[in-house]
Amino acid sequence: QAVLELKDVHVSYKSGDEQLEVLKGADFTLYPGEIVALVAPSGAGKSTLLHVAGLLEKPSKGEIIINEQNTAKLSERERTVLRLRSVGFVYQFHHLLPEFTALENVIMPQMIDKKSKAIASKKAKEWLEKFDLGHRVNHQPGKLSGGEKQRVAITRALANSPYILLADEPTGNLDEKTSDHVFGLLLQAVRQEGLAALIVTHNNELASRMDRVMTLHEGKIVPFTL
Ligand code: ADP
Ligand code: ADP
Repeated sequence: QAVLELKDVHVSYKSGDEQLEVLKGADFTLYPGEIVALVAPSGAGKSTLLHVAGLLEKPSKGEIIINEQNTAKLSERERTVLRLRSVGFVYQFHHLLPEFTALENVIMPQMIDKKSKAIASKKAKEWLEKFDLGHRVNHQPGKLSGGEKQRVAITRALANSPYILLADEPTGNLDEKTSDHVFGLLLQAVRQEGLAALIVTHNNELASRMDRVMTLHEGKIVPFTL
């Protein structure tokens, strides 16, 4: 069964006196273990789509179903708990907290989820090692290179054992060689964990390494041929 379903999802924003309709009846189904690329021009609604799919934003109409649970009737608190346990986010910019170490950043979602610090730290260290960051666990983000920061951000998204990874150009601010390396580590981790992923990219070569490619056309999600 699907791990994520969007049914007839609408999102619009106020733009002066007008309503800007970004998503206009978007339908999408993501199955466990599937890695889907999302490519579309700037302004098409990719970030908006990730935000509603990850329960950061509510659609004005339509349903978001995560692991067969319809999220429409959940309270704010229930949405937050479901998001923490089900969804990992990676953004183009790392959004790490500068005053905390790599390890502390990675365990943060699990601390918010009231998990045991000892267990969270152990798991986080294992993940950081898989991403070749074993020698960086006690470094603050300011001491890390761009690629290292992005690897920490990816580790943070994976460490709370989500079902779904949502990534918005996760290597978009890295040089080509680093991007290629970090993206490879990301795909490998997602495959090993059997996670489902929806990954926004502007890079056709990266998109071609995923299972299928979708785009946004007039507010709907449709297949795309590279
Ligand atoms: P993409 O990620 O494909 O570049 P976005 O989802 O960020 O697209 O944005 C789609 C459109 O919605 C853009 O025109 C953007 O300016 C607008 N938009 C996004 N977020 C907001 C917001 N919070 N308030 C008003 N307009 C927004
Ligand atoms: P983009 O990759 O499209 O630039 P950003 O990382 O800038 O996306 O985030 C877009 C919006 O999502 C911002 O307004 C930000 O405040 C919000 N956002 C990002 N992460 C979270 C979060 N964990 N919880 C709530 N809102 C978030």
